[in-house]
Amino acid sequence: MIKISFYDAKPYDEEYFNRVNEQYGFDIRYIEAKLDESTAVLSSGSDAVCAFVNDDVSEGVIDRLCDNGVKMIAMRCAGYNNVDIKHADGKIEVVRVPAYSPYAVAEHAMAMLLTLNRRTHKAFLRTRDFNFSLNGLTGFDLYGKTVGVIGTGNIGRVFIDICRGFGMKILAYDIAETCPYVEYTDLDTIFKKSDIISLHCPLNKSTHHLINKESIARMKKGVFIVNTSRGALINSEDLLYGLLSEKIGGACLDVYEEEVDLFYEDNSDVIVKDNILSRLIGLPTVIVTSHQGFFTREALSNIASTTLENISAYFADGSLPNKIRYKTVKI
Ligand code: NAD
Repeated sequence: MIKISFYDAKPYDEEYFNRVNEQYGFDIRYIEAKLDESTAVLSSGSDAVCAFVNDDVSEGVIDRLCDNGVKMIAMRCAGYNNVDIKHADGKIEVVRVPAYSPYAVAEHAMAMLLTLNRRTHKAFLRTRDFNFSLNGLTGFDLYGKTVGVIGTGNIGRVFIDICRGFGMKILAYDIAETCPYVEYTDLDTIFKKSDIISLHCPLNKSTHHLINKESIARMKKGVFIVNTSRGALINSEDLLYGLLSEKIGGACLDVYEEEVDLFYEDNSDVIVKDNILSRLIGLPTVIVTSHQGFFTREALSNIASTTLENISAYFADGSLPNKIRYKTVKI
């Protein structure tokens, strides 16, 4: 029987994976700890490990997994910036779930934008206390505003469709201009002309800190930035200064560059030492969610199905339809 060590397991993972596993009968060992050099030892005796966005799949971890006889790393996510693909090449197979529900993430991006703009999170708290004042809740119409979408793959395109439904003007930037119905432009134009900028590109060397003090300086005053992609697309300190100076009018952050030790856990009893995150969360022009863009029933179900199918196919006949290939990684 194929054995899988499943890292960073949460109750919702177990629920969806156990349901899909009824058809495969794999021996899945759910491990609460994240994968890193100290926990890789727990994979001993496993054929595959299953990892997620904040697991550490760097060089040393890959070597330990290989020493333990693990043949495959099955990422249960689309992004793979946390995997050293170059080091894994030729040593261990790495697969992912390239698309499970672009709607989940795109809809979350719009939900965050609507929430922060129209202050519904604050209105909800006020009316629970019979405070029916509208002071400070002013938003703006999305209709007619220009949204700059960076990355027009699966999620970016759905986000564009949603924005079109709101009557917004779309500007798009992508290194591969494959969406037939949007106006592509350069990054400088996106920065200068957008009222809202939404990030939907992967994190790699060329996109790391794409939003920084230089790019912020080129933006319109009051711009809203939405990041449901990866935290390190934004230099968080530069974002904070942009918000404090009111150059940036709003930041909707589902991801954060230092999220690894914080997100997905209850830290309400902990003194969080990340001063930048603490200041961001304290600002009325910021909302933060805990990397939950993917978190719908449909997405969880598709993630479980594709991940277990990836493992099943490889151990049945060596096929790897969702292999992450080193030479195709854009850096
Ligand atoms: P995708 O591969 O379908 O699309 C990514 C697009 O980005 C592609 O069109 C690609 O050409 C483009 N791109 C690559 N490098 C670029 C660059 N330097 N500048 C501009 N565009 C560039 O991926 P997707 O499924 O749309 O996912 C996008 C990102 O969303 C993922 O990389 C992942 O980081 C993030 N994501 C977040 C969540 C969440 O829960 N918040 C869930 C899934 C994915």
